[in-house]
Amino acid sequence: MLTNEAFKTMTLKDAMTYEDKSALVERSVEIIAKEDKNIRAFISVNKSPNIGIPIGIKDNMNVKGVETTCASKILKGYVAPFDATVVQKLRENGFSFVGKTNLDEFAMGASTEYSAYGPTRNPHDLERVAGGSSGGSAAAVASGEVIAALGSDTGGSIRQPASFCGVVGFKPTYGLVSRYGLVAFASSLDQIGPITKTVEDSAILMNIIAGKDEMDSTTVDRKIDFTEFIGKQFPKMKVAVATQSFGEGVEDGVKQKVREFITLLENFGHEVAMVDIDDLKYAVATYYIIAPSEASTNLSRFDGVKYGLRVSSDSLRDSYEKTRGEGFGDEVKRRILIGTFTLSAAYYDAYFEKAQKVRRKIANRLSEVFEKYDLIITPTSPIVAFKIGSVSDPLVYYMMDIFTIPANLAGLPAISIPFGKVDNLPVGIQIMGPRFSDAKVLGFADSIERQLR
Ligand code: GLN
Repeated sequence: MLTNEAFKTMTLKDAMTYEDKSALVERSVEIIAKEDKNIRAFISVNKSPNIGIPIGIKDNMNVKGVETTCASKILKGYVAPFDATVVQKLRENGFSFVGKTNLDEFAMGASTEYSAYGPTRNPHDLERVAGGSSGGSAAAVASGEVIAALGSDTGGSIRQPASFCGVVGFKPTYGLVSRYGLVAFASSLDQIGPITKTVEDSAILMNIIAGKDEMDSTTVDRKIDFTEFIGKQFPKMKVAVATQSFGEGVEDGVKQKVREFITLLENFGHEVAMVDIDDLKYAVATYYIIAPSEASTNLSRFDGVKYGLRVSSDSLRDSYEKTRGEGFGDEVKRRILIGTFTLSAAYYDAYFEKAQKVRRKIANRLSEVFEKYDLIITPTSPIVAFKIGSVSDPLVYYMMDIFTIPANLAGLPAISIPFGKVDNLPVGIQIMGPRFSDAKVLGFADSIERQLR
């Protein structure tokens, strides 16, 4: 018989060959019923899940017949009329959709504190955040409620919560995974990816969810076997560690873990060099112009006419305003206001256009580094999971994305793998590679993970 404890540590690899799939679903449902009162990883739980491998889906992706809330009041009552492409692919491969996981409203945030449904709690310390925006997905995997989960990553939303919860999070190269059926935040940055217990599991999931899709014109036709280097002896790599990993705002404990990681790489025979990637200092400012600009456009469709909440009024305009005023939370409003401003005729050149140029400059600088090095290492987050409610200044909150944002701006693959703890809280190391080097990034991460076991 499959015990709850055995289920909690089961990998996707093992679940795929486990014969009694209904036992998997039973265990998942039971653990969620028992433990999610505390963790609150889920916004909704499927009352009659199909038989298959239990997976958590971030609640900004469509599962046909199920509500997609984006953790926003404005989508209240919106039931998805179709499956997201990734969900359809999972369905075809025998997965079971046991529930939709919590996120910051419209994926805007880094803690799930901006969810209209309240924050998800970190399984390692219930007083702390699980990270975000895919905090529900990361906490659900870390607590063993599900075998694996999907997240979306616009500026770090897969990797940072994975790092905070001590699990693996992978953001693929932009264009490898279809965004059809993912509620758009910032379309030029958004990418769906796996959150799993092992690197190998992420590679397995990538083989299932990636691929060109007619329904998303930004997907590319590129055959990659994401498991190509999994479990294999990995060749010696030239690794650049960004000196910014030791910069201002990075906690001492995190710096210490990066140092340990460097020693480990050297012991494994990899060549490690410190590289100053000065342009990273522009990444946060650039992102917080581009992402809100795109978001302000994408979110204009939520006006009470077609989706979810409608606050009726005498005039159409009044109804738009009331619906949006009541439906969106403060952080989403802040982003819409910033984005509307940066796209406005008077400021377009000064902000949006300039940010596009700086985005290009950052991408070019990263390409330059990749001419000499195979991979770039940083911590995933400058800090470990913080106490719920302890960060109130948006600028402080935004700065936490410093290491994850560059991969989105440049469309690069990046993974966060757990690397021990500081004060009993997990630390994640980020490994970033050139575009389409996804299999290599996964293989390298896997080789390190295996040696750490
Ligand atoms: N923390 C970032 C933000 O608030 C990233 C969010 C994301 O990747 N969806 O925008």
